[in-house]
Amino acid sequence: MRIITTIAEMQKEMKALKAQGRTVGYVPTMGYLHEGHMSLMKTARPQNEILVLSIFVNPLQFGPTEDLDAYPRDFDRDHKTAEAEGVDYIFYPSAEEMYPQEASIKITVEQRTNVLCGKSRPGHFDGVATVLVKLFNIIQPDRAYFGLKDAQQVAIVDSLIKDFNFPIELVPVNTIREEDGLAKSSRNVYLSKEERTQAPELNKGLQLAKASIERGERNPQNIVGLINKHITEHCDAEVDYIEIYSYPELEQSYTLSGKIIIALAVKFSKARLIDNIIIEVE
Ligand code: AMP
Repeated sequence: MRIITTIAEMQKEMKALKAQGRTVGYVPTMGYLHEGHMSLMKTARPQNEILVLSIFVNPLQFGPTEDLDAYPRDFDRDHKTAEAEGVDYIFYPSAEEMYPQEASIKITVEQRTNVLCGKSRPGHFDGVATVLVKLFNIIQPDRAYFGLKDAQQVAIVDSLIKDFNFPIELVPVNTIREEDGLAKSSRNVYLSKEERTQAPELNKGLQLAKASIERGERNPQNIVGLINKHITEHCDAEVDYIEIYSYPELEQSYTLSGKIIIALAVKFSKARLIDNIIIEVE
């Protein structure tokens, strides 16, 4: 496995591999790897001859009051994890390497972004789209792997790939959870002991919602109310949003039919956690 920190070297390496006709799978991450990231690598490994992992905490996707500086990092551990998962290249650039000067062209995500995290984190998906355009051009993968834990991101990356004609297959991967149902996240380390015991209630709220839909509930407001009640009763945390949309369009779903997403974000003292379920409603 090789670790590459410069864009020039990464592009040169990828160009040579492509010239040999090798297929390239790509897993973009911000590091501090856990089983969620590993599941992306495990899915990608057998589907591609070459597997590239990037580790880059992208400043552009963090708001001014968010946790950019405090974002957890442990490159040595990530290095070992990547090695064990059979990664061929880690692309590990610095912020200066990725953004040597202020950008003269900005990418603005126009659709699917005025809801969920797009609404509560203004500019976040513009930053995600901008860094992905750069990373896709640097790595030129055949397939790119993204987790459905960030389902809005998957929907926006789908648009990005189609709108900008990247010859890349997007492969969504299901959310990996702890045994108690908490979605794995690098940010879970910010939870206090007590918060960690409360955090699985987010998923329990989503499961309650699913069960009520299975029993015939079709009113989105009632479902949101049910989840909100469950979370506020069981967690010392502030609900950022609980919303229901069609998926992947992310449009208001008044009657709940077809594929829908129920998604939430909840702020604990130091960690803002997100989770969702995507279900097919008859
Ligand atoms: P991050 O490092 O948080 O930017 O995540 C990198 C990739 O891993 C994204 O595509 C995430 O959706 C994915 N990911 C993060 N947590 C999980 C999880 N619990 N299950 C599946 N994929 C995940």
